[in-house]
Amino acid sequence: MTLASQGGTPARIQPLPDVNDARGRTLGEEEIAAARRVIESGTLWRVTGHEASLLEGEFAELIGSRHCVASTSGTAALHLAVAALGLEPGDEVIVPPITDFGTVIAVLACNAVPIFADVDPETGCLTAASVAARITARTRAVIVVHLFGGPADVDAIVNTCRPRGIRVIEDCAQAYLTVPPGGSGYAGTRGDIGCFSLQQSKHITAGDGGLTVTEDVDLARRMRLFADKGWPRETGERTHLSYGVNYRMTDLTAAVAREQVRKLHGVVEARRAVARALSASLGGLPGLTVVKDPAIERHSFWLYPMLLDQAVVGIDHHRFAAELTAEGIPVTAGYLVRPVHLVPALTERRIFGSHGFPLTSPPADRDVHYAAGDCPIAESMVGETLLPLPCNERFEPGDVRDLVHAVAKIHAWAATA
Ligand SMILES: *Cc1c(COP(=O)(O)O)cnc(C)c1O
Repeated sequence: MTLASQGGTPARIQPLPDVNDARGRTLGEEEIAAARRVIESGTLWRVTGHEASLLEGEFAELIGSRHCVASTSGTAALHLAVAALGLEPGDEVIVPPITDFGTVIAVLACNAVPIFADVDPETGCLTAASVAARITARTRAVIVVHLFGGPADVDAIVNTCRPRGIRVIEDCAQAYLTVPPGGSGYAGTRGDIGCFSLQQSKHITAGDGGLTVTEDVDLARRMRLFADKGWPRETGERTHLSYGVNYRMTDLTAAVAREQVRKLHGVVEARRAVARALSASLGGLPGLTVVKDPAIERHSFWLYPMLLDQAVVGIDHHRFAAELTAEGIPVTAGYLVRPVHLVPALTERRIFGSHGFPLTSPPADRDVHYAAGDCPIAESMVGETLLPLPCNERFEPGDVRDLVHAVAKIHAWAATA
């Protein structure tokens, strides 16, 4: 079979359903009616409306947490989580290097120092051991990312951190209804705070938006204040009890998000069904590692992660991704261009002004610099092995068949190349 890049027929002609178009989203009449309801009410903000409060209650119940605070993005959701911890400038927060930059922005925005710990070579998530290796006297929190919807062993990380008074925040922007090992509770309810995103590319969307959950009434109150200028609305008094920003979700966004939350179980179940079909066909190809049952039932497949072993497959993940893209399946090898500890904003210390604050001492204990070699496993995953395929709740059997065909075609060609 001739590769599309060499003049052959592409495995896929029509674009797959995608998160950036209606064919790959669950937006429909329900969301239209919700938006109409809010616009007709004349109240588009949450302060005198009801939609955002209702969303918070409904999402907290669905996830299994006591409190929820809505905000304007996943990054905002993380920012108010870190802000609620009341860190001192220069305190350290441990983060993973394979994530969205929003995870790290939340730390920097609190004048705290992100400390990168390495990841598990199969999941790309932090581990209890990698976190323990980075704990210092200044460590105050860890942000655990459930990458691609695959669960980190967050209970083990909590067990490492809690005795030391270190808080655990779960970044669940890619992990709605993910079930971490060791129990049946969802990701976002196992640490102290869980953060979710409603941005366009996530499982459910309102364009942008964030949701932060916690069991702790005191953290919830601090987060609510932080997202609304430190203003205690319930007292009716125009005063400001603490520093905050305006991260208020609008009622228009919240009304759409409420409808999306109702569809969440269906979205995740559909993605698991796609993953089951992909793994049944791709799981046997030498040199490709995929998620298999029973792990599929705990994963929520924001993307469908594969790991490629170049020594077995015969080509590297960049070449494999380029060939897939030529076959009509757009794929980014490694997920990121580089792990987050190596982005220019950090390596060139472009944060506040030109002095490197808060990575400088003081306020940090030591001058912090980021460099290649800090997290070798994450660097090899991004640079050599990670090959995430698209996954979407609207994939039909024909879409899955084309995806499998494209991967199998390139895999067979690579074996003879
Ligand atoms: C998308 C994402 C974020 C940021 O969410 P936004 O809504 O885009 O601000 C943070 N962390 C992870 C792991 C993400 O995937």
